[in-house]
Amino acid sequence: MELRLYDTLTKEKRVFTPLDPNNVRMYVCGPTVYDFAHIGNARPVIVFDILFRLLRHLYGADHVTYVRNITDVDDKINDRAARDFPGLPLNEAIRKVTEQTANQFHADVAGLGSLPPTHEPRATDFVLPRTDGKADMITLIQQLIARGHAYEAGGEVLFDVQSMPDYGALSGRKLDEQLAGARVAVDAHKKNPADFVLWKQSSKDEPGWDSPWGRGRPGWHIECSAMSAAYLGNVFDIHGGGLDLIFPHHENEIAQSRCAHGTATMANYWMHNGFLEVEGAKMSKSLGNFVTISELLNDWPGEALRLNMLKTHYRSPIDWTLKGLEESKRVIDSWYDIVGDDTQASGIADDGVVSLLSDDLNTSGVITRLHAIASGRAGASGAALIDSQRTLKVSAMLLGLLGKTKREYLESNPKAVTVNKAVVDALIADRTAARARKDFKESDRIRDELAAMGVLIKDSKDGTTWEIAR
Ligand code: AMP
Ligand code: ZN
Repeated sequence: MELRLYDTLTKEKRVFTPLDPNNVRMYVCGPTVYDFAHIGNARPVIVFDILFRLLRHLYGADHVTYVRNITDVDDKINDRAARDFPGLPLNEAIRKVTEQTANQFHADVAGLGSLPPTHEPRATDFVLPRTDGKADMITLIQQLIARGHAYEAGGEVLFDVQSMPDYGALSGRKLDEQLAGARVAVDAHKKNPADFVLWKQSSKDEPGWDSPWGRGRPGWHIECSAMSAAYLGNVFDIHGGGLDLIFPHHENEIAQSRCAHGTATMANYWMHNGFLEVEGAKMSKSLGNFVTISELLNDWPGEALRLNMLKTHYRSPIDWTLKGLEESKRVIDSWYDIVGDDTQASGIADDGVVSLLSDDLNTSGVITRLHAIASGRAGASGAALIDSQRTLKVSAMLLGLLGKTKREYLESNPKAVTVNKAVVDALIADRTAARARKDFKESDRIRDELAAMGVLIKDSKDGTTWEIAR
């Protein structure tokens, strides 16, 4: 099946041809670990998890390498460490902040059903030259200086944007426009105000590494140039992240990587997800209009959050609402009613689902298709019914949905854990006994008592079943 992906650099949807189908390579910029991630930060994680799953489906699970880094050197981290652990030496405090935050991030994204990437490098492991010969930041900066693309000034090493004729191609910004639009005073030590930092000096109470330019720390962009080259080579297939990373982060990654390696490209497809918004504004820490993944997972099944994210095409903005979430939860509940407790994940993914996903990740189309599969089983019976259940399950699993049994889902459902199953079962037994002796007043009273606990019961000729209402 032909895969087509939208490429931000060429501004078109193109047929995806991997450099090496035996090793399809994707890099996605990961979190800066200083604080809880909000649900907007989950969008790139989920979007590129869908692409990872699709690539594994198309090329084989062993033929895809997915790298998502952890940025554990950043001035925001230093500030947080000093604030939260004032009694500790800064380096220890920093380690505490980054470890706690990275662990929380892993728990959050696992709760949202995302697979771990193949490699998850930490920036601090790629600053100095390495014994395994993998790419590192200091060597990359030395290469840039040697090739005439970087210079030392004012205690910094800066990338010389004018040394690269097509600097700005990804974001479509022209250097002279940037100059004309610059409001801030030109930093005197820069040749060009658009020149960006590769390396900066650290004071003695800032984290730092010894380098040819004195004790210092890397700029943000050089990290991803080093870590992508370390695991994926100088040129690879797909580079992704949120829309806000196009400029300056990805623009500068391209400049560094291409100029250091002397290549015409860094990645063949540049993919960017749109923003998750609340009442028309991008969800962000600075606006304060955010809700953390971990708060949401306290109230909602991860699969409902994930489906809610996938209802919108990844390049469009998402309007995040409670109403949408409630609707997504109902859909997941109804699909679990259909797939039940069948643990056999064998079966074949629906062709329609795979081809919709292959059209630049048309997840909303896939969801419509899953609804059709779910309702198409009306009237089916026997083997055909089981087949359609499995098709629904296996196809939904391409989106990272319905991977559990219905029981596991109900048990992991946040509201469900507040209900004591033994108590529910005992009340249902009492109610069955009351009905048997035709004491309907008592049986209704027990039904209302269960309803007040959030438990819905259903009577059928095979007995009474129950589920958690939301
Ligand atoms: P940050 O922590 O701001 O560097 O963001 C980490 C990742 O989340 C980046 O890929 C951002 O583009 C992405 N991101 C941040 N806010 C949003 C949002 N509201 N909607 C979608 N993606 C976002
Ligand atoms: Zn990056």
